[in-house]
Amino acid sequence: MEDFVYNGNPARVVFGSGTVSRLPEEADRLNVKRLVLLSTPEQVQQATDIASHLGPRVVATYSKAQMHTPVEVTADAMQFISDHSADAVLSIGGGSTTGLGKAIAFRTDLPQIVVPTTYAGSEATPILGETEGGRKVTTSDPRILPEVIVYDVDLTLTLPVALSVTSGVNAVAHAVEALYAREANPIISLMAEQGISAIVRALPSIHANPADKNARAGALYGAWLCGVCLGSVGMALHHKLCHTLGGMFNLPHAQMHTAVLPHAVAYNAKAVPAAMARLRRAMGVDDGATGLFDLARRLGATMSLKDLGMPDGSIESALEQALSNAYWNPRELDRPELRQLLERAFRGDAPNPA
Ligand code: NAD
Repeated sequence: MEDFVYNGNPARVVFGSGTVSRLPEEADRLNVKRLVLLSTPEQVQQATDIASHLGPRVVATYSKAQMHTPVEVTADAMQFISDHSADAVLSIGGGSTTGLGKAIAFRTDLPQIVVPTTYAGSEATPILGETEGGRKVTTSDPRILPEVIVYDVDLTLTLPVALSVTSGVNAVAHAVEALYAREANPIISLMAEQGISAIVRALPSIHANPADKNARAGALYGAWLCGVCLGSVGMALHHKLCHTLGGMFNLPHAQMHTAVLPHAVAYNAKAVPAAMARLRRAMGVDDGATGLFDLARRLGATMSLKDLGMPDGSIESALEQALSNAYWNPRELDRPELRQLLERAFRGDAPNPA
């Protein structure tokens, strides 16, 4: 066995069906009495219903969370938090809502209770990605890591099938890059393999029947494992490309991850044979990149960045920004090949054969 460093983040996770009824206990454990509820505009009703378990301890609702955590929204929310003398935030929703809660916690050190409703995995990481002036900047800090995650499978039943598929592949992206991370270690690789396997097995069942609670539980469990991977080791080319494209063109997060991942895997595959063997085993396929592309396409995902809103003629500027300040990657970054990668993803072509 090779030497390794394992860096685990503290986590309290409540997982199951109907677990939102345990929110009062969790608020008691943290000794918090003035929670501000966070949500997106689309989920405010669902979030308010769930938060009613906490009664008057929820003093106000801020429902303007947005994708990619724009700093202007955070500034507005900070004023709201201060106006209501909040002593904690309760984030109910997907990664956008969790992101806003983390941005507030980073600035105030207020405790966070997170109730995730997608498979983004942000709740399990001490990482905050914020967008300012078309650039996404990530920060890692212990204040950003939520104090408790309450996973309630029932809440994911309303996640539309299309978003369930892409959000699941977004989670898989965290685990795939963890398998070949510079800090890869046996514990995180176990979680990564298990997380990929759980999600890849759940998605076809969710696609066939979105009300399949067993499949929903498998996907949510996998999403947590994949989130832990993201929070524990560094990410590489795939995440850099997505951070760049998300910041520059405000592309929908999970859908964009889904369109890029097969290509990033194909690019790195030759440099990381052991990680690819684990990916193949987790997915039960002959080739990881092709397997991911085929799965996503079969389940109806849009595989073209152009169709997701990336403007014509923008590949060169995206490439420029992705290569400036690039993340560590297991394979050297080759500009012409990366241009081809983006061109293929732009058109929605299958990944380059291994
Ligand atoms: P999202 O939170 O933007 O949700 C997408 C839409 O689906 C929203 O309108 C939301 O209200 C709605 N929705 C969510 N759950 C639902 C449900 N169960 N039923 C019905 N509607 C539901 O999307 P996301 O993909 O979860 O999160 C994307 C954001 O998370 C991005 O900003 C991304 O950068 C961030 N993220 C951060 C990390 C991290 O560790 N920092 C990790 C992953 C994602």
